[in-house]
Amino acid sequence: MNYISVFDMLKICVGPSSSHTLGPWKAALHFVKTLQKEQSLNKVNKVIVELYGSLALTGKGHGTDIAILMGLNHQVPETCDTQLMYSLPEKVAEDKALLLGNIHSIDFDVTQHIQFHTDQRLPFHTNGMIFKAFDVDNHILHQETYYSIGGGFISVGETADEETVKSMPKHYCYTSKELIKTCQQHQLSIAALVMQNEESWRSPEEIDRQLSKLIIAMQESVYKGCHQEGELPGGLNVKRRAAAINKKMLGELEYNGYGEWLQHISKKTCDFSAINKWISAFAMAVNEENAAFGRIVTAPTNGSAGVIPAVMHYLMCFAKPDYTQQDLINFLLVASEIGNYFKTHATISAAAGGCQAEIGVSSAMAAAALTESMGGTVEQSLVAAEIAMEHHLGLTCDPIKGLVQVPCIERNSMGAIKAILASNLALETDPSQTKVSLDEVINTMWSTAKDMHEKYKETSIGGLAVNVGLPEC
Ligand code: SF4
Repeated sequence: MNYISVFDMLKICVGPSSSHTLGPWKAALHFVKTLQKEQSLNKVNKVIVELYGSLALTGKGHGTDIAILMGLNHQVPETCDTQLMYSLPEKVAEDKALLLGNIHSIDFDVTQHIQFHTDQRLPFHTNGMIFKAFDVDNHILHQETYYSIGGGFISVGETADEETVKSMPKHYCYTSKELIKTCQQHQLSIAALVMQNEESWRSPEEIDRQLSKLIIAMQESVYKGCHQEGELPGGLNVKRRAAAINKKMLGELEYNGYGEWLQHISKKTCDFSAINKWISAFAMAVNEENAAFGRIVTAPTNGSAGVIPAVMHYLMCFAKPDYTQQDLINFLLVASEIGNYFKTHATISAAAGGCQAEIGVSSAMAAAALTESMGGTVEQSLVAAEIAMEHHLGLTCDPIKGLVQVPCIERNSMGAIKAILASNLALETDPSQTKVSLDEVINTMWSTAKDMHEKYKETSIGGLAVNVGLPEC
């Protein structure tokens, strides 16, 4: 059994896609590491990367080729200089060479050495990749097949990446029904139970430290996105909007950094329309950063990375302005537990389940987290997650030009607003009277995913991706 930690579900990363950027990036890093382990890196004369299925169809728009260059160059998503996402491809194109593992120069022409097989799919998953390293006599030194299975998770062949394999945690719950029972039995909140589970793998200090890093990364992406104007890359000429909303809402008010900015927002805002606009701005800010190869937190994917930070900022600015750092830590612990059930019993990959698997899951995660933060019971938090997903069922993935911009950026605002509504409804609900459980809605989401036509699963060959630009009816 492959147990999932909060740090598998939430990861600091670079945009724009967890399955099409982070997954291939991690595969390239794994490939380089294997060459180093086998002491064959210095013998490599040529590397060929073959992309299949959804990775081939939308990889260019999602920066898959750039991510592979970054991984082969041994850049780490969490800490690299994000400007390299622009400068490294330019340098490789100019030099027609790449520094493999950042130590060994090989000839590299992206147009020849990264191949997009748009008409082929590997058997295990639509996001398949084959990496091959050749020596000077054109003999294969090493070959590996990888799959990017959603949320930045990869499998090496059909086996989970060893980094994600862990021992069984203290209160392992296979379903959300078991979660309710275990929380009752041990008198625990969801956050407390997840914390005890995490302690099976790390010290409490380390968990707090890592979660605080995630919180800071989320806050930075919201703040940066709310202050960055201009156009997004990719050729769709999409203008950033979060900064414009921020400017309009705060007018001439001056502030020095994130803390003062937040104080202004919560002091100045009280009506429904203004709060709604702020939530939208928070969510769009993160996804505009994501689309511009900025640093964000995968939560549970990059395309949906704005939902959880937006709902967290709603908590901080409006719902609970006297929040503590512990509230924010608990928020992430609860969100991750909900994501876990979707990953275990359905999917968090748009290539397998459409946008319900990205925005729908992030909305469910945020809804439960907000509910427990606002004093809801374990059962009410799960009701909130259920409501949020129930109203995303069937949502397709159809990004225009394969870019994570339209409809993706606005969709994060919608996911955040639905999460808040779901939480408010759940807080007024008697869970014993609900007709649909979280486990049932997860099963429904998975059967809907299996029934969904392939063209709506991150291929950009259906929906908005093909209907925009046609004559209006
Ligand atoms: S449409 Fe949804 S699932 Fe598809 S890329 Fe955009 S955010 Fe991700």
